Amino acid sequence: MTAGPAQAASALLGVYARVGPLFTSGDGSELIAEDGTRYLDFVAGIGVNALGYNHPVIRTAIERALGTGLVHVSNLYRTEPGERLAEELVSRSFADQVFFCNSGAEANEAAFKFARKWSGKSGIIAFSGAFHGRLFATLAATDRPDYRRGFDPLVPGIEIVPLGDRAATDRAISASRTAAVIIEPVQGEGGVRPIDAGWLAWLRRLCDERHVALIFDEVQCGLGRTGTLFAYEQAGVVPDLLTLAKPLAGGLPMGAVLLKEAIGAALGPGDHATTFGGGPLVASVGIEVVKTIAAPEFLASVRRRAEWLGARLADLAAHLPRVREVRGRGLLWGLELSEPAAPFVGKARDKGLLVATAGPNVVRLIPPLIITSEELTRGVAILEDALA
Ligand code: PLP
Repeated sequence: MTAGPAQAASALLGVYARVGPLFTSGDGSELIAEDGTRYLDFVAGIGVNALGYNHPVIRTAIERALGTGLVHVSNLYRTEPGERLAEELVSRSFADQVFFCNSGAEANEAAFKFARKWSGKSGIIAFSGAFHGRLFATLAATDRPDYRRGFDPLVPGIEIVPLGDRAATDRAISASRTAAVIIEPVQGEGGVRPIDAGWLAWLRRLCDERHVALIFDEVQCGLGRTGTLFAYEQAGVVPDLLTLAKPLAGGLPMGAVLLKEAIGAALGPGDHATTFGGGPLVASVGIEVVKTIAAPEFLASVRRRAEWLGARLADLAAHLPRVREVRGRGLLWGLELSEPAAPFVGKARDKGLLVATAGPNVVRLIPPLIITSEELTRGVAILEDALA
């Protein structure tokens, strides 16, 4: 018997509350359902599909990589694409070295291990509202008690401190115990909150004074999302380690840790590894994604559309009483409502617009970075209608 979509779905573990139509194709900023209905996609694979669907750069990169016959080789040997992607990232950032893995959580877990090895200490400090992943250490650094329930014990030594509380942070970051401080320069899952540059600079100073590694988690806010290649560029504060994933390989699974040489020097063969990390197919696509997004005209265009979007959302908030606050940067925005956000996500979908939540009361917009001004205008009009 051929399993139809309904049967296939029933064989999937029920950890996702999937809703809406069955999507069968994608084109630019739109997802297309099996009945042909087109949805304007302001979710973009939760920030993965920065270049949208069916982008020629990604298609060509995959086809060219397949032409070599090398999907995977193993990290026992050298291959060119991973080395080149590392160079592309290093030449455009603070970093001297790169470690590749397969997801955002894996990148953060690796960053924690690197910081522990470098510092000889074990403590990790994260902040309220943080989301860093769902593996054992990253879950301990993620401020969502509902995600943790039933999975104790998590990794010990990881503490969540109230964001913005200087006294508590000063007490928590210990010169003798703390290996790393991790923070998203723009919190994503926790409600879309851009972090104040002054706070990041203060953390930087504290970390320097106490020999603690500062990790920026740019899994969601990195790679052009905020209008610069990396979000930290706008704060003018440089981390010791930075994690990436989501859009890095155009929808193929890939994560990365960018790090300074001083940290890398503490690590040698055998200290960390992952079978698939930085394989030739994913890395080949990553090279083209990074080059495309990093192009100055591409980023300038993101900033222009971002400015329009921010202004338009502020207008919308001014006349829609259920919108309490609008927060965001670049093409990552959250509308905090005075009530649960999920019903409005459903209403928008019924009207042909896909948006996500970020916590219980926030509607989150993360459109592809290639979205046109016309599509943004159309999407915001649908959102306005859904929220009215
Ligand atoms: N860090 C941040 C800031 C994220 O937004 C996410 C995922 O949403 C992760 C880490 C975890 O990434 P992944 O789901 O690829 O493990």
